[in-house]
Amino acid sequence: MASGRVDLDGNPIKPITICMIGAGGFIGSHLCEKIMAETPHKVLALDVYNDKIKHLLEPSGGSGSPPWADRIQFHRLNIKNDSRLEGLIKMADLTVNLAAICTPADYNTRPLDTIYSNFIDALPVVKYCSENGKRLIHFSTCEVYGKTISCFLPKDSPLRQDPAYYVLSEDASPCIFGPIEKQRWSYACAKQLIERLIYAEASENGLEFTIVRPFNWIGPRMDFIPGIDGPSEGVPRVLACFSNNLLRHEPLKLVDGGQSQRTFVYIKDAIEAVLLMIENPARANGHIFNVGNPNNEVTVKQLAEMMTQVYAKVSGEPPIDSPTIDVSSKEFYGEGYDDSDKRIPDMTIINKQLGWNPKTSLWNLLESTLTYQHTTYAEAIKKAISKPVAS
Ligand code: NAD
Ligand code: UDP
Repeated sequence: MASGRVDLDGNPIKPITICMIGAGGFIGSHLCEKIMAETPHKVLALDVYNDKIKHLLEPSGGSGSPPWADRIQFHRLNIKNDSRLEGLIKMADLTVNLAAICTPADYNTRPLDTIYSNFIDALPVVKYCSENGKRLIHFSTCEVYGKTISCFLPKDSPLRQDPAYYVLSEDASPCIFGPIEKQRWSYACAKQLIERLIYAEASENGLEFTIVRPFNWIGPRMDFIPGIDGPSEGVPRVLACFSNNLLRHEPLKLVDGGQSQRTFVYIKDAIEAVLLMIENPARANGHIFNVGNPNNEVTVKQLAEMMTQVYAKVSGEPPIDSPTIDVSSKEFYGEGYDDSDKRIPDMTIINKQLGWNPKTSLWNLLESTLTYQHTTYAEAIKKAISKPVAS
């Protein structure tokens, strides 16, 4: 396992301790799994929840402690108000900060919580890393790019087809957000400001940092299925919304016709990129990295159609007669919603620094993810649907 591991420059990798904040979430759970299975590193896993990493913390099936039991420690804490935070950061060589409110349904309906979570609550983490000379990998978002230049060009302009006007580059693209009353942008703006603060800490005080901008990472354990392992009225991100509709044999809801475009990357590909950052500090420090799959671009409508086909294949249940339905963004998300039109990551920097490329096609990643969704949730949904509604 650990022995013989070398970095991209051929140097042996020394075991380190990682303070992972938000380790109990979607990305954190996959990162913990990868670190436990393939590296000698230790993880101090901080979160308010641990359901998604329970399988790593507890003995499974009466087989005693997992082989990595002494390398992962869960600390249930809220970074908003817990004095243990600085001590835990000091105990580690590296802090990875994943903690955030990061579901679009919250950005316009809970803008204060969104701004506090993505900016104010991250401040002490940056400060403690800087003051104690600790390296920081901070999770930002592709949403800091906002809208593309191309969407402001006239509809019939041939420049709309020119990648120079839509490909999103870390060191060249502007960040274009909508007006303040479009509170959707509260998240992107808070993430942009924390990126700028980290960058300033590096330039003025020597903080060693890496910033990650995920472009729609998807896979098992993302978000929740409303009414099963999350609130019935909750609105998760699109993968879980569409999975929920498919599991319940309901039409998939296309917000404003589903014309927005996204590139989706498989979580397991993306986690490889994060591990390269962790283990190659000399190549990752001081950089902002797009992490996405430019080859997996679809409109949301095309995503809905593909998920419908894939789900029919993995569940053996034929699609319903009208598999999609249009809804307005106001009806679905409420006042103040707005959208990113298109998100194609420029891969030049991550390619040059870390030699990373995503591997999994959209069809294949949906097939493994929807197999997981079906296996995990289909029975629970059946039971929930068959329960008589209380009058
Ligand atoms: P997630 O919601 O599954 O995970 C976030 C975790 O942080 C949760 O487990 C939550 O309990 C924890 N957390 C939040 N506030 C906390 C607090 N105050 N104290 C302790 N723990 C707290 O989200 P994710 O998809 O795993 O995203 C992780 C990071 O990546 C976030 O910063 C997000 O903005 C960023 N990101 C993710 C994507 C994606 O495609 N998944 C896209 C863009 C950005
Ligand atoms: N969306 C949709 N139906 C849903 C959920 C989301 O049409 O049930 C759309 C949403 O409007 C956006 C895209 O899907 O255009 C992706 O949404 P997601 O919540 O995954 O986050 P985003 O990529 O916008 O950050």
